[in-house]
Amino acid sequence: MMELLWLLLPVAAASGWWMAQRDHARRNDANTRSAEYFKGLNYLIDDKPDQAIEVFTRMADVDRGTAEIHLALGNLFRRRGEVDRAIHIHSSLIARTHLTADQRRLALLELGEDYLRAGLFDRAEALFQELVEQPDYMKVALSRLIHILQQEKDWRQAITYCDRLEQIGGEPKQRQTAHFCCELAEEAISHDQLAEAKTWLHDALVRDPDCTRANLLLGNLAMRTGDHWAAILAFQAVERQDRGYFPEVILPLSQCYGTLGHLDRWIVYLRDAQQRDHGGRITDALAEWLLSQEGEEAALRFLERELREYPTLLGLRRLVEIKLGRGEGAEYADLKALHCISTQMLNNAARYRCGNCGFVAKSLHWCCPSCLQWSTIKPIPDLVMKTGV
Ligand SMILES: [Zn+2]
Repeated sequence: MMELLWLLLPVAAASGWWMAQRDHARRNDANTRSAEYFKGLNYLIDDKPDQAIEVFTRMADVDRGTAEIHLALGNLFRRRGEVDRAIHIHSSLIARTHLTADQRRLALLELGEDYLRAGLFDRAEALFQELVEQPDYMKVALSRLIHILQQEKDWRQAITYCDRLEQIGGEPKQRQTAHFCCELAEEAISHDQLAEAKTWLHDALVRDPDCTRANLLLGNLAMRTGDHWAAILAFQAVERQDRGYFPEVILPLSQCYGTLGHLDRWIVYLRDAQQRDHGGRITDALAEWLLSQEGEEAALRFLERELREYPTLLGLRRLVEIKLGRGEGAEYADLKALHCISTQMLNNAARYRCGNCGFVAKSLHWCCPSCLQWSTIKPIPDLVMKTGV
């Protein structure tokens, strides 16, 4: 037995030497990997994604077992807009069998982001659905699903997910869900389901009492059913909610008061609104009313007084129009040119602007096509310059 042990000594020594060599090699490998990893990170910090990708690709080729490196590499490709490569890296990672549960969930999340970026919403949706039941990923998965459902116009499901996100302590979604209710109301209106539309609009106001869109739609709905007093109440609520949207209700309000035979009340209301806002559309509406009720002189006196203090392009055009209507005089050619220029400027000008990203448009979008925020696009006030500014 002792002889056998003596015989084993060289084997043990050889094995010890081999183990030591292997540990040494492993330590060297780990040191090299660590150095490469920090090198890649430094490139990222210095905003040099090309060099970072080069380092991480080299590392991923050498060590195919490192999930984190593949995740980092995939993210880098996505950030650079190379979504196909990001998808390839993340899906190959998911196909591996030895990933930990957390690594797999992280890879699913990243692949979902890739699909989202590529516009493959159905694939992204399936992945986020898988993650939405995982406590650590619930918030991010819900917010991505809401984004997808919004693109797919599945407003009902989007409302359900927004409510769920709010319940688990996510960001407030009242403004967004109120708009989703308005979208559903517009769908119902297009199918002549007016009672259902009304229910959605009231739901919108419960969710967001400042939802001007809901009152605008309620006003239009009331006008359609011939209830002009209810329409007036809804349109007036718009000004109380957000004065910036008042230009949107000037025309329908005047129509309602006109139909009811109460233009006198309309003008009292308009004069009152003008105390709060000297925008061009209010000035123009007041001048139009004065022209029809009290004649050219009264309208001109009002416009000259108003424009001196609050110059607006719409007001100026109205003034020139009235003067042109008086017939050809010494200044007729100049006035004609001025009218032409102001009309051209008004036709070319954007009427709406997003307060969040600056996107400009000629028509009102409730969701900004550029930054995808709700209620950030508002009418641009037509106030050229205030006196003294
Ligand atoms: Zn925007």
